[in-house]
Amino acid sequence: MSSDCGVNRSLKTLSNYPQLIQHYDYLKSVIKGKINESTVDVNGVYPNNELNLADIEIYGFDYDYTLAVYKESIDYLIYNLVSKVLQYPIGIHQLDYVPEFAIRGLHYDIENGLLMKIDSFHQIQKGSVYRGITKISDKEVEKIYGDLYISQSLIRPENSYPKMKQLIDLFSVPEICLLANVTEYFNQNNISYHPEILFYDVQNAVQSIHPLMHGMLDEEKIKDYLQNHPQLQEFLLRLKKANKKMFLITNSPYNDCGMKYMIGDGWTDLFDLIIVHARKPKFFVQEHRPFRQYHRETDCHLWEQVTKFEKDKVYMEGTVKQLLEITGWKGNNILYFGDQIYSDLADLTLYHGWRTGAVIKELEKEINTLNSEDFAEAISELQAIQQLIEEHQKRMENDARGKDLLKCLLHDRDLLRKRTKELFNPQFGSIFRTHHNPTYFSRRLFRYSDIYTAQVTNLLNYSVNHLFCPRRGFLPHERSVTSKFLEK
Ligand SMILES: [Mg+2]
Repeated sequence: MSSDCGVNRSLKTLSNYPQLIQHYDYLKSVIKGKINESTVDVNGVYPNNELNLADIEIYGFDYDYTLAVYKESIDYLIYNLVSKVLQYPIGIHQLDYVPEFAIRGLHYDIENGLLMKIDSFHQIQKGSVYRGITKISDKEVEKIYGDLYISQSLIRPENSYPKMKQLIDLFSVPEICLLANVTEYFNQNNISYHPEILFYDVQNAVQSIHPLMHGMLDEEKIKDYLQNHPQLQEFLLRLKKANKKMFLITNSPYNDCGMKYMIGDGWTDLFDLIIVHARKPKFFVQEHRPFRQYHRETDCHLWEQVTKFEKDKVYMEGTVKQLLEITGWKGNNILYFGDQIYSDLADLTLYHGWRTGAVIKELEKEINTLNSEDFAEAISELQAIQQLIEEHQKRMENDARGKDLLKCLLHDRDLLRKRTKELFNPQFGSIFRTHHNPTYFSRRLFRYSDIYTAQVTNLLNYSVNHLFCPRRGFLPHERSVTSKFLEK
């Protein structure tokens, strides 16, 4: 696509309307000026809900992708391991991982074998539906889904398997790429397959490599996959100095190579409680599953009843109910950080009243895009065109010439939306928004986390008593500073 064709087309038409073109230029320059006035802090912590750190006495952490920040090489490792485990035609193993193909939070239609992005109103985003790595035309999407609405009953049915699955966990980006590559391979080679079987085969293969992968991350290999995170020790030491308690709950087996690599041999001294094999989200919802003690030296789990937690020991399984009973901790004094919106944060927010922090690594890349000149240019053109449409459409609908102009402006708006989307990811755009709505992913992120950030150590930029206040957003019926500002 020529990035300017839409705008030029409009401007050519607009040239017959000197007042409109003047207004367009004014709007664009004002909007761009406002955007360029400030940059978004890539190391910021962003509140969805008011949170006073002075009230937090206990900090809890997930491990993978929360304390441990992995390099992109881990996605290649996951992709290649899953591809090998999959007992599929040999040609599949020669398909390369394409890191920029997918984003986290996409939905997969298990019956139709389609990948798509859905917004917070369950609407499919046009231009973001793929069979394999081939984009499906809007016409075909409408033929399959009618009004482009996806019912919640397809995603979370009461009594049966879902027909649609959101791919949201830590392995989802390589998993989506493998699903797409295998689908494309089957389609290109006219190999008959059942999308549902393909989906569950890939998903089972992904599940099966968890222990294998953690076993591979030994002292020698860990540096190839894990980022050295020098600020992590500083962050944890600062919390300890402030007399905060700290605990770790991970679904992974016990393997301390990563923590040793990031913090050193004495890392366990920083934590009051370490729980492995927790099986989240079951850990947060089940009531009856006893804690067991894990014996590090012999790699065995012991059989004695756990009635208290000791600082230098490691525990496994258990439930959040027993955790609170044994420790006497209160939920609203605990801030728990995780990268998985559903398995780490949702139940804690909905049922236990813990405060929650989401660690979303994609935020860094998205904020860098928001701060780019390309984005400022595209979004100011888009908003200026949109503002023209909103303000003048009533008048334009009065005659044929006006109607033609409106049609051109709407066409240009679509091209500018596409250009803006592609700045984040050419296929699926931003993980946080469709053109004008939050995504299904971000609506849940905002609901289930009090704060969110790209890395947990970004909290070092704030004091241990910082009060996070969410931005007062404007409801659609309230007076917006922006629209007032733009009035001529
Ligand atoms: Mg994790």
